[in-house]
Order: sequence, then structure tokens, then C-alpha cells
Amino acid sequence: MPTAARPTHRPAPDPDRRPGDRARVRRMVAQDMAALRPGDQRGWWLRDALTADPGAPCPTPAWDATADVVIVGGGYAGMWTAWWLTEQDPAARVTILDADIAGGGASGRNGGFLTAWWDYLPALVGTFGDEAGLASAMALDGVADWIGAWADRHGVDAKWRQGGTLVASTSPVQDDAWEGILDLATRLGVRDRYLPLTRAEVQARCASPVLRGGLLVPGDAQVQPARLARGLRRVLLERGVTIHEGTRATGIRMEGDGVRVTTALGPSIRASHAVLALNAWAAGWPGGGFGRRMITWSSYMVVTEPVPDRLAEIGWTGGEAITDLRFTNHYFRTTHDGRIAFGGGGGRAGYGGRMGSWVEHDRGSAALAARGFRRLFPMLDDVRLVDAWGGPIDIAPNHLPSFGTLEGGRIHWGHGFSGTGVGPTWLGGKILAALAQDRLDDPVTRLPMVGHQARPFPPEPFRFLGARVIRESIVAKEQRDDEGGYVPPPLRWLVRLPRAMGYDLGPE
Ligand SMILES: Cc1cc2nc3c(=O)[nH]c(=O)nc-3n(C[C@H](O)[C@H](O)[C@H](O)COP(=O)(O)OP(=O)(O)OC[C@H]3O[C@@H](n4cnc5c(N)ncnc54)[C@H](O)[C@@H]3O)c2cc1C
Repeated sequence: MPTAARPTHRPAPDPDRRPGDRARVRRMVAQDMAALRPGDQRGWWLRDALTADPGAPCPTPAWDATADVVIVGGGYAGMWTAWWLTEQDPAARVTILDADIAGGGASGRNGGFLTAWWDYLPALVGTFGDEAGLASAMALDGVADWIGAWADRHGVDAKWRQGGTLVASTSPVQDDAWEGILDLATRLGVRDRYLPLTRAEVQARCASPVLRGGLLVPGDAQVQPARLARGLRRVLLERGVTIHEGTRATGIRMEGDGVRVTTALGPSIRASHAVLALNAWAAGWPGGGFGRRMITWSSYMVVTEPVPDRLAEIGWTGGEAITDLRFTNHYFRTTHDGRIAFGGGGGRAGYGGRMGSWVEHDRGSAALAARGFRRLFPMLDDVRLVDAWGGPIDIAPNHLPSFGTLEGGRIHWGHGFSGTGVGPTWLGGKILAALAQDRLDDPVTRLPMVGHQARPFPPEPFRFLGARVIRESIVAKEQRDDEGGYVPPPLRWLVRLPRAMGYDLGPE
């Protein structure tokens, strides 16, 4: 889950650097990776959720199927769209198609940081201006409370816990990087959404020797992401929404005053409107020209065995979801059964919208997550990592989602959550439902990310090659920052290239 608050100044020498740490981390990661097989089975979150409740089976589509709205993609974005459609009109006939199981994509594999957009305030204001940027943040304000109450109401055991998001420095180059956010928040009158913490206060919440000062967003929460996704699926089925799993959509064509969505199974579904909620898969969708709106990327996580006593020893019992301030950020949190789930450190780009082994089987990216864990928690060297998994993310040029309607007015799309969609897809679903119900005067369809065209990425092969070179450079630069090493000028120049080209990506 990349964050939008980033360091802006040069490093000072780190007096806390521990000699020999680099060799220890390398040794531990080699040991971890010898036992881990990312992609050989579903990730730990999904296995836990499916064991708790495998869910009612879903039928395959009938040959003469029709719906008011057909949604392609059964992740949070597609499922919240179905929720809001049926909330607005309980009689609406809604069908969701998913190539895998509902929640089998990023929604069942993520870090479970349930955030509003307060850590994205500079990006929102920088892209849309003060008024519209703040209006966007306000549209998502309180999302964590809303989802927590919703889960209670519907008996969804999503393991919701409100410990806030703690954005913490893990090297001198990151220190105080949040000051710009605080200045902006003060100017816009929303300073109360944040709580700056000293190093001692951060240490009292999680005694990793690497953590320094930080900024807490207390209103954010964390969830077991797959339990939320599968719970949403159950609630939708109870509402009468039709879900077809194992049903890959292959295309959409206009037909009369509606659309027809074709599937790989044979049957096609006729509907008045279609919604494409495809995350990174949108880049490979035929038609729509979505490929240049995103870089398809991966993010990987590892999880420890249960160690509740050890979490108590380091004081990490408040449910804080923590992220550092690297661009290839590390994000880490505890789980309901006393584990640490730890992700990030640098994923990989895909070519031309194609999904492949880079999304689920990339040992190199999983090793970067393990490396982050071993660096942050040297006191847990005796604790085993028991699982690793990856998933796709849709990095937008401005790091913000966008929504729109294709020519003909019947096909709506939303993507670009850029690795931070757990909260924002709730709002995204609201927007997509309003578009599919022609509610163009709704406050959410007037938000600036609806119809917004960010600067497109270059075409292939330049997009893939550029993303690859920049990724290697950023990972190398940020590892040097972590280790207090020298960053040579060519590397400093390369990591700033995306910003120089007008994209809101990479270190500043
Ligand atoms: C490892 C990882 C960690 C993350 N951590 C966080 C975090 O802590 N906090 C946060 O806010 N965000 C996080 N994210 C991002 C977040 O998970 C996503 O932004 C969010 O889940 C996107 O939801 P979605 O519905 O758009 O996508 P998805 O959940 O990926 O859903 C898309 C669905 O479309 C289906 N599909 C694809 N092609 C077709 C087709 N042709 N026909 C039918 N179905 C199709 C897929 O099977 C998939 O189920 C993380 C992502 C990853 C991968």
C-alpha cells in the first residue's frame, strides 16, 4: 500500500545504524525464502477466510441471462458497486462476473489497511486544487467507521480494529517528511485528523529499534481483507445479487439500447449498463484504451507464525497499521491471531497489461518484503515466516483512482486505486453505482476524479522498460537510504525522472 506522503530532503548520518545488520538481514532472508513458495496456493488471508466460511456455491450463467447492471470483476470495487446499486434500488437486478472467486484478486490478498484519504491530502490538493481536493478527502472521511458498523450490522467477522495508520520514519531521510501534510491540513482546517508522534511515542506503540518519529491517522482501521471480501459476497447473495465465479468476461458490445457481455464459458449476459471493476486486469481489457492509464504492478506480503506474547513484549498491542515513508513502502500490521503481516519493499511491473508469474510467483519481490521484516524486527530472528503471496495493483499516473463512462453511455469503469483501495473502493462503488443508474447529479459523480484524464503513460515497450529501470533504481536508492549508504548522483537523477516527466510517482 504505497503512501502519498514522501520524504523531500537529503539524508543525515544515522547514529543508530547497527554494524553487521546488513549481513544478518541477508542471512535471515535466505533462510526465510528457502521455506517459502509464493503463489503455490492462495495467500494466508484467503485460506483463513475460506476455512471460516467457504461460502454458498454460485451457479454458472444461464444462456438467456439478463440483468439491469452487469459488473465485471468481483473485488471490493465491483461488490461495493453492487451494494450501492441495491441500496438505491432494492429491486435492481445486478449480476457480478468474476474469472476467479469473488475476493480472489487484490481484495483478498492486501494488507488490510482500511484508510481514508488523509495521507493522500497533498496528492488530492496538488491534482485537483484546494476545494475539490478537500471535497474528495471529505467524501471518504469516516469510511473506516462506516465499514466497521456495516460489518457488525451484517454479521461479517472482518476482524475490524481501529488502531489508526501510523506513518513512521525508518531512516533519517524520512524524518519529518509529514510536516508538509500538517501545514496543508492546518491551512484547510482538518489538522484534527492527524496526531504527530515523537520517537518515544512511536516506540511505546511498537518497539522496533528502526522506527523513529511518525504521524498517526487515528480514524483509520485494519481488517482481515479476505474476510471483508467474502463477507461482502455473502451479504450481496442474501440481497439477491447474482454472482458467477469462474466466469471470465471476454468482451462487451453495444446491443440496442443496452450492452451484451460475453464470457469464456459461452453464455453472454444482456444488461442496460455494464461496470468494469477490473483493477490491473483493465490494462488488458479489449477496448477502452485503459492500458496507458496505468502501470500494472505487483505487491507482495509475508506473514509470521502466531507470536502474541512477542507482540506484547514489544508493546505492539494497539492495532496500529504501520507504514514507512519509502516510495516502495513497507506496510506492516498485526493480525487477529497474533501474527505480523508485512508487505512491500518493491513489486514488479507487467508488460502490456498481461498478467503472469510476476504477479504471484515472484520470489524476488517476496524476498524484499521479508528483507523489510527482518530489518525492522531484529528481536524476532527466531520467529518463522510461514507464508508469502503477491497480487496485482493498478498504479495511476497521479496515484489516484479515476472513473468514467465510455462512448455510448452504457459502459462505466473505475480503476487506478494504486495499491490503496480498501477504503477508496467503497467510495468507488458509490460512484460507479451512480453512473450506472444515470444519477449524474449525485454529489459523488461531481467529484473531480470522475471523468478526470491524468497524463497517460507512454506506450509499450517504453512503459514496461521505463517502469523496470525506474523500479530497480528506486529499490536500490531506498535500500541505500535504509542502510545509510551513499546515493550517487545518476541514481538520484533516475529516481526523480517520473516526477520530471509530470507523473506523481517516485521519491521527490
Ligand atoms: C499485496 C497487496 C497489498 C495491498 N495492501 C493494501 C492495503 O493495505 N490497503 C489498501 O487500501 N490497499 C491495499 N492494496 C490494494 C487493494 O487491495 C486494491 O486497491 C483493491 O483490492 C482493489 O479492488 P478491486 O475490486 O479494484 O480489484 P480486485 O480485488 O483485484 O478485483 C478485480 C477482480 O476482477 C476479476 N477479473 C479480472 N479479469 C476478469 C475478467 N476478464 N472477467 C471477470 N473477472 C475478471 C479478478 O479475478 C478480480 O477478482 C494492496 C494490494 C496488494 C496486491
